[in-house]
Amino acid sequence: MNPSTLIIGPCSVESGAQLLSMAVVAKEKHIPIIRGGLWKPRTSPGFEGLGLVAAPWVAEATKMGITFGTEALLPDHVSSLIEAVGKNGGNQANLLFWLGSRNQNHMIQVDIARRIMTDADPKVILMIKNQPWGDEKHWLGIVDHVTNAGVPPERIALIHRGFSPYGRENPDGMRNPADFEMAMRVKDKTGLPMLLDPSHIGGTVENIFRVVEQAKLFPFDGLMVEVHPDPSVAQTDAKQQLDFDDLDRLISII
Ligand code: PEP
Ligand code: MN
Repeated sequence: MNPSTLIIGPCSVESGAQLLSMAVVAKEKHIPIIRGGLWKPRTSPGFEGLGLVAAPWVAEATKMGITFGTEALLPDHVSSLIEAVGKNGGNQANLLFWLGSRNQNHMIQVDIARRIMTDADPKVILMIKNQPWGDEKHWLGIVDHVTNAGVPPERIALIHRGFSPYGRENPDGMRNPADFEMAMRVKDKTGLPMLLDPSHIGGTVENIFRVVEQAKLFPFDGLMVEVHPDPSVAQTDAKQQLDFDDLDRLISII
């Protein structure tokens, strides 16, 4: 894999300095896409994401030629970010959205997919993360819902982020153990690119490197990895974010 198949960035966008340092590092390393959660509902109430406060920094990153991706939990997340990035002089074509693992209301998924078609630049892609439970039919069903809403296959990609550990074999103590075989079946059945999110599978930096090694046996089409300039101060998922040295280590092994 080369760096052009990597998506890097913090779990949550926390400041302009944080997001723009990620854009600068991505540019230096020829990584075309950065990620960052703007809307972050959590297991318990607390930091919930900066939402559109981040739009000027996102616009700045898009002007640098970097694509910025975030999870859309509601249809308005798509429309409002596109509009705010435009108002801030950003490049609306350099945006990307994904359906998150816990966003499993098919009607909302369909409405998000429709907004991608009505409001986004034709270059904008919608990625689909698998649901938390290991049901292959459900994963394929999300793809069907998005496709039926009018999104063409060239604007869809999938991401495997592991499944809830409850009731699953989990000898390596992963946060959300992977099912690489299922991911490959879903890739084959849909004909869509399948990326891997080793961060939410592994849950710790060392586990992330283990997952990346294990996944080498399978033809994933890219990696989405959480990276933070200083993981020790991260507001969400601090334990699993790589720092920039870890990122160099990752690039050296993929
Ligand atoms: C994320 O990527 O920010 C995220 C919340 O992941 P998941 O939906 O896989 O838990
Ligand atoms: Mn995260």
